Amino acid sequence: LLFSTSSSSLSSSFLMQAISHIIPVQVQGAVQRVFNGLFHSRLFMALHLVLEALVFAEFTWEVFGYCKKLEFGTPSLLLPYLLLIVNMVFFILCSRSDPGAITKSNQALFLHSYPYDGVMFETGAECITCKVKKPARSKHCGVCNRCMHRFDHHCIWVNNCIGAFNIKYFLAYLLTLISMAASIAGLTAAFLVQVALLSNLMQGHYADVHGEEHPVDVFFLIQHLFLTFPRIVFMLGSVVFLLIILASYFCFILYLVMTNQTSNEWFKSSRFKHRSYSNIYSRGVWSNMAEIIRPLTSPTRKRK
Ligand SMILES: [Zn+2]
Ligand SMILES: [Zn+2]
Repeated sequence: LLFSTSSSSLSSSFLMQAISHIIPVQVQGAVQRVFNGLFHSRLFMALHLVLEALVFAEFTWEVFGYCKKLEFGTPSLLLPYLLLIVNMVFFILCSRSDPGAITKSNQALFLHSYPYDGVMFETGAECITCKVKKPARSKHCGVCNRCMHRFDHHCIWVNNCIGAFNIKYFLAYLLTLISMAASIAGLTAAFLVQVALLSNLMQGHYADVHGEEHPVDVFFLIQHLFLTFPRIVFMLGSVVFLLIILASYFCFILYLVMTNQTSNEWFKSSRFKHRSYSNIYSRGVWSNMAEIIRPLTSPTRKRK
């Protein structure tokens, strides 16, 4: 999700940069501590689950029953629940699996995964916090307090880093979340359209404040549906809004996957423009996508 892009490190450093111009130095330390505290907590993870629960509660409580009365097919009505189960599996995999944490004991395994480009990743660099030799494309995550192999970003919504080993789960999580939102939005919109058609609303007329009669237009129809089903229309509006954000973010992540860049590298690349930085890791679209599903190095599989 776009909100996931706000990796703790990226967004907190960006926010701190922005506020450093308006807030005195003494207050900046306190603000930084509040941000770090927020990103360390599971607040965003809980918030995301509560939002999901609210959408499903509204769908189950009102939309499902109305759709049943209008004889919508049961399989289509059960689709959002099926997608919810699959989505939850990927959510757990994403938040609980090892993204590629680098420790003293496994650092040798990752050192030769990727060549150093000499611009963004310098040979022989060591992490000042965990003292491991930093493999190319790795980064220390301030929230997890570990260096991560092929670090993408720290996702506050799943409360875990996204790295070489769990990025496939992250993509599957995003895709099922988008499908779930699309199925709920589709069913809710279909129900509202059905109501409008069955009640012949579009053929009707309405009187304005001056008593003048007008044929019903789309604007009036939406207003009327909102007044009749306020919770349903509000839920549909919110889900469509989220759907647009999620789909745009998924397209961005897909572009990064196809070009073999991490969010971290994409974000940093502008800083290295003057040193004519170019991405040396791309091996063609299909190989780049295969690398996401089958990472070049895994803790159990040495690179051939
Ligand atoms: Zn580190
Ligand atoms: Zn992290």
